[in-house]
Amino acid sequence: MPYDDSPPSTRRARPLSVAAALAAVCLTAAGCGGGQETGEDGAASPRPGGEAATSAAPTPTGKQPEPTVSGSASPSVSGSASASAKPLPKGPLTGRTVVIDPGHNPGNRDHTREINEQVDIGTGRKECDTTGTATNDGYAEARFTLDVSHRLRALLEAEGARVRLTHDADRPFGPCIDERARIGNEAKADAVVSVHADGSAVGNRGFHVILPAGVKGGGADTSKIVKSSADLGARIAGHFARTTGSAPSNYLGGNTGLDTRDDLGGLNLSTVPKVFVECGNMRDPKDAALLTSARWRQKAAQGLADGITSYLKG
Ligand SMILES: [Zn+2]
Repeated sequence: MPYDDSPPSTRRARPLSVAAALAAVCLTAAGCGGGQETGEDGAASPRPGGEAATSAAPTPTGKQPEPTVSGSASPSVSGSASASAKPLPKGPLTGRTVVIDPGHNPGNRDHTREINEQVDIGTGRKECDTTGTATNDGYAEARFTLDVSHRLRALLEAEGARVRLTHDADRPFGPCIDERARIGNEAKADAVVSVHADGSAVGNRGFHVILPAGVKGGGADTSKIVKSSADLGARIAGHFARTTGSAPSNYLGGNTGLDTRDDLGGLNLSTVPKVFVECGNMRDPKDAALLTSARWRQKAAQGLADGITSYLKG
């Protein structure tokens, strides 16, 4: 189907009940295998099909100037596109900072030398970044992640949160995975979500949230964020299932929609609560039909926003 990238429906009312989904992260009886997905290092993608990224953000009504949260955002953070030039409304997330990390970058494919350079992820070395995957029709993961991130930003800002993106396709490639982590750290983010879609085999379907494992070595020490990130991830999984109607992954995570990894630099190097979300499998035609639907992406963003809000409100 054609890629629909109409601006997000920023007036969409968000459900108020967030409690129902907290515990129930597994809503299907589908079996789960023990497959591996590529996460941070998805497969190479074809060139994006010239699709325009959405950039619309809501202009909330009844907005009031929001005082700067002291120390919440370092001006030294590089490459982070901030959408907070406009006043934020008062809301349940007032005073909280959320960093959204759109996985990959549409320009990565044209900068293979740079993104293949190794960076330190604490426990070893890994490529700066990857191109990400794509649907069989060429809808690139890097476009998907930006679109969902824009929608998520709009929803969170409407709740009063200060939101930063690690990039907004406003740089030729990257950022590298270590810089992506650093942006969240330097922003002293209350929560960070890295948005992705997977590139797995046909028949592998559903979403999963990747949690940081306990990792210590080099510049990595996740001991202080393992528990909080698990809480964040479980809440996101529950709400994502509810708003999208998607089932947790049928190919990993034991039907919980949760996976834990120690090989992702973006998690290893984080000092603030952070998870990755693989929203679906771009290589499966049924999942791809969802991922290429703007309506579905809005539901996905809503689920992420509801999960983040639930976590931040405790
Ligand atoms: Zn990815």
